[in-house]
Amino acid sequence: MSKKINDITEHSNFIHKIIDEDLKNEKHSGRVHTRFPPEPNGYLHIGHAKSICLNFGTAKKYNGLCNLRFDDTNPAREEIEYVEAIKSDIKWLGFDWEDRLFFASDYFEQLYDYAVQLIKLDKAFVCDLNADEMRKYRGTLTEKGQNSPFRNRSIEENLVLFEGMKNGEFKKGKCVLRAKIDMKSPNLNLRDPIIYRILHAEHDRTGDKWCIYPMYDYTHPISDAIEGITHSLCSLEFEDHRPFYDWLLDTLKLKNHPQQIEFARLNITNTVMSKRKLRSLVEEGLVDGWDDPRMPTISGLRRRGYTPKSIREFCDIVGVAKSNSVVDIAMLEHCVREDLDQNAKRGMAILKPLRVVIENYPEDKEELLIAENHPKNPEMGTRQMPFSKVIYIEHDDFLEDPPKKFFRLAPGREVRLKHAYFIKCVSVIKDEQTGDIIELRCTYDPETKSGSGFNKRKVKGTLHWVSEKHALKAEVRLYDNMMIDESEGNTDDFKNRINEKSIEKLPNCLVEQSFANAEKGEHFQFLRHGYFCVDVKDTTKEKLVFNRTVSLRDTWAKISKKNK
Ligand code: ATP
Ligand code: MG
Repeated sequence: MSKKINDITEHSNFIHKIIDEDLKNEKHSGRVHTRFPPEPNGYLHIGHAKSICLNFGTAKKYNGLCNLRFDDTNPAREEIEYVEAIKSDIKWLGFDWEDRLFFASDYFEQLYDYAVQLIKLDKAFVCDLNADEMRKYRGTLTEKGQNSPFRNRSIEENLVLFEGMKNGEFKKGKCVLRAKIDMKSPNLNLRDPIIYRILHAEHDRTGDKWCIYPMYDYTHPISDAIEGITHSLCSLEFEDHRPFYDWLLDTLKLKNHPQQIEFARLNITNTVMSKRKLRSLVEEGLVDGWDDPRMPTISGLRRRGYTPKSIREFCDIVGVAKSNSVVDIAMLEHCVREDLDQNAKRGMAILKPLRVVIENYPEDKEELLIAENHPKNPEMGTRQMPFSKVIYIEHDDFLEDPPKKFFRLAPGREVRLKHAYFIKCVSVIKDEQTGDIIELRCTYDPETKSGSGFNKRKVKGTLHWVSEKHALKAEVRLYDNMMIDESEGNTDDFKNRINEKSIEKLPNCLVEQSFANAEKGEHFQFLRHGYFCVDVKDTTKEKLVFNRTVSLRDTWAKISKKNK
């Protein structure tokens, strides 16, 4: 299951078949050059990770190159904060654009010149229709469009007007520049699409130099061509835009004509995957920022404890398809579980503590017991766990009146404490008023020390524990899916599907002493509870906070086994 990034193609990938064919035919003189083109209007999500793995992974597989290009053509929505976040997320995922960091805004001058060229070729015109009128003229899928009354403006007039647009002579919305193609085309994208609009807005990189901005559909193909991209991989919704992509490059006779290839977007159950929606969750304070551990953003997954490897592995298994589908979130969880199983140190944490006094253990005695850090990987070493008269176990590990199959602690029962001794429950102490169980009295058998070779008695249960005197306080946060599945909740407004129980904070947990040295972001398996990491944001010198990355139960492995 653990394959490297450059093995991405071992799974069905129709794009690589196309590239293999292109290489055979010496198309693009045998080069492979891709790009990842995010718009800096939000943080990256796991859907983008798929595109990143595909673009950078494909370049790597063919010894080619992959550029990072910010599509910053909409100054109203874009921010530098997002540019920096996107860069660090891509690096964290394990990819490198080397010296090929570009911005579409770097090409504003050239894009303008190409637009002038289109006008000179009589392939673009300035149109004064307002948005409503333009919609009416455009027609529908079943109804042809009509030519704009401004379509026959002379080349000279268009040149003057376009320059006027550039020089700020018109207000926003007064006019636009449109390509002159075919209002009767069955493809709406070819019905004289807008290529420039007026926006008197400050741009993060170009300041107030421009008051006209090129549209995405116009900017993208030209930027690809300028950068020498060979294969322009994009998601399926751009399929209908491809004829315009090709029309533009052919009309301008650009030397390098990249091949646009569309693939299916990644969708995952129980989540939302659109920057716009994620942004509204952040802006309305419904989550704790872009990196809330419930968010499907790269930064959220990172804070939750996902590893880059697990995300790459997930994108690899998902594969690249030509039709849209929804992937079970259990599969993503499976991938991180596999990685952490191999690499996370084991440790003990009590989420709901129950005090246990060991009556026959000497009052002041303390022992250091040896615990392995990983059951299958001795190279990860051991640690010392202090043991003493008072310990804590998990409240759920005791039942006064246990059902038949309950193999944990109960009155008169004996269990093993992991890496320590056998203990037997001799009495239960309850709160006089509420009747709640507040403490257990147990005895231990000194003969049964872990590692002593003792095996006279069989005990069925093994519990984790911490020593009262040595344990550290911690807050542990458990997570569930951020969204209720689409088939269940009200789907009109995605906010109605937010899972109210997606976070549970347990502020009074106790963890073993060795966690005092844990680093922010470090991963652990808490025995019997799952994989956790030290929260990077809320952990302080005084307070340890852990996020549960994923529980131990692998539902996806079960499902996929069943389907085999
Ligand atoms: P969103 O709708 O979430 O804002 P977007 O497509 O507008 O996504 P961009 O910043 O334009 O976001 O995307 C950069 C690249 O990532 C594009 O090439 C886009 O096709 C790709 N991408 C975005 N979402 C997904 C997804 N869910 N699966 C695969 N690729 C995606
Ligand atoms: Mg977009």
